[in-house]
Amino acid sequence: MDGLLYERKNGFDGISAKDKSEIFDFCAEYSHAITVAKTEREFSDMSVSLLEKAGFVELSCKNQLKPGDRVYSVNRGKGIVAFVIGGEPIENGCNIVGAHIDSPRLDLKPNPLYEDGGMAYFKTHYYGGIRKYQWLSIPLSLHGVVVKRDGTQITVSIGEDKNDPVFCIADLLPHLAQLQAEKKLSAAFEGEKLNVIVGNIPCEDADKDKLKYGVMKLLNEKYGICEADFITSELELVPAFPAKDLGLDRSMIAAYGQDDRVCAYTALRAVIDAKTPVKTAVCLLVDKEEIGSEGNTGMQSRFFENTLAKVCSLCKETYNDLVLRECLSHSSCLSADVGAAYDSNYAEVYEKNNACYVNGGLLLTKYTGARGKSAASDANAEFMAKICGMFDKAGVLWQCAELGKIDVGGGGTIACYVANLDIEVLDAGVPLQAMHSPYEVAGKFDIYMAYKGYNAFFNN
Ligand code: MN
Ligand code: MN
Repeated sequence: MDGLLYERKNGFDGISAKDKSEIFDFCAEYSHAITVAKTEREFSDMSVSLLEKAGFVELSCKNQLKPGDRVYSVNRGKGIVAFVIGGEPIENGCNIVGAHIDSPRLDLKPNPLYEDGGMAYFKTHYYGGIRKYQWLSIPLSLHGVVVKRDGTQITVSIGEDKNDPVFCIADLLPHLAQLQAEKKLSAAFEGEKLNVIVGNIPCEDADKDKLKYGVMKLLNEKYGICEADFITSELELVPAFPAKDLGLDRSMIAAYGQDDRVCAYTALRAVIDAKTPVKTAVCLLVDKEEIGSEGNTGMQSRFFENTLAKVCSLCKETYNDLVLRECLSHSSCLSADVGAAYDSNYAEVYEKNNACYVNGGLLLTKYTGARGKSAASDANAEFMAKICGMFDKAGVLWQCAELGKIDVGGGGTIACYVANLDIEVLDAGVPLQAMHSPYEVAGKFDIYMAYKGYNAFFNN
C-alpha cells in the first residue's frame, strides 16, 4: 500500500537538471553572504541592506501600517526584525520565522594585549560551545567595533581581504605533546591558553614591552585607538577562510557560522520574497542564542514584544494592550535553527531511526532539551501536523529527528522563549555535520528546502 511506511530519501535522488541548478544558484548567493557576514553585527548590517534593496523601510519612519507594507527594526546593531504586513487584522497573529545570527567564536578579553616569551598576544574568552582544540593552528580574522568614550564608533575587520594578515593560536608540536596526550580531552585544552599571536617586531620607541608597544602603535595608526579603548570594544576572532563547495559533486557547503546563519539567511530571503501574505510575515534574527538567549539582544529580551507592540499600534486606528496580547496568542513560529546530521564516524551517538541526514530535507525537531526532555519546548502534535501538511502541499521535503541518542548530551534553541510568549512554535532548520566547529557542513538541498519551507509558511 502506497504511503503505509514512512520513507526517507536523499533530495538529490532523481532531481531534474533545472531544479538542481536553481538550488546551486541559490546556494552560491548564500555562500557569498556567509563569507562576507561572519558576525552578528555584520549579518545585521547585511540584512538591512538586503531589506532596503527590497523596499523595506525602518519602522520608525512610519506613522501607520497597511497590508503590503514592509518594515524593519534593528536591535542595537546585533539583531533585526522584518515585517511584511498581512491582509488579515494584526490581532489574528503573525507567521514568524526566528533564527539566531551569533555563532561560537573567540572574543577578545577587555584587556587583551600582552607579551610573553618574545611574542605579542591577544588573550581571548571563548563564546558559546566550542571544542577548544578545533581553534588551534587555523587562520583567524578579527571583526567588531571599538567605541571611543566620545561615542565615535570604529569598525574593525582584519584578515578577510586577500592582502590582510591573519592571526592564529599556535598548537603544541606532537614531539612535545606526550604529557598532554595522556590527559582527558576536557583537561588537555585550556581556555586560558587560547592566546592569539599578534606580532613579533620590537618597537624602539618604548623602553619596555616593546612587542606590545609595536602592535598598539600599528593599531593606533590604522584605527586611532589606544590600549584602554579595548575596554569599550567588542572584538571577535572567527575563522578567516571563506565558505566553499564541499565534495566532488559540490552537493554541500563547508563554512564557519552556518549555525545559525544558514537559517537566518534563508529566512531573510523568504521574508523578502513574501508578497502581501494573509497573516503578517515576520523574520526575527536574534543574538546571544549560543550563550542561552540572555541579554537585551537575545530572545529572552523584551525587544521583540516591544517592537511588535509598535507594529500593532501602527496597524490599528485605536490600540490597546489587548491587540498585542491577541496578536501573540494567535501567532505561529518556526524556530529556524540547525540540528545535528547523522555522521557514520560517530554512529554511537545517534539513533538511526530518529536522526536526520544531510540532503534529506528540512529538519523538523519536535523537541530539543536534554535527558528527560529537560528544558524542551515540545511542539504540539496539532501544530506539527499543520506544518507538515503545509510543507507536503508546497513540495518541501522534510525529515523529523532528535538531536542524538538519549542521555548522550543535549541542546536547545530559541523555541522555548518563543513558546513563553504563548506562540505555537516548532524547530525547523538545516541539518549540519561538525556543528559548532570552524568548518560546519550543510547540504545544498536542505538549504534550499529551508528557504522554500519558510517561504511556504509566510505565503500560506
Ligand atoms: Mn543554533
Ligand atoms: Mn549552536
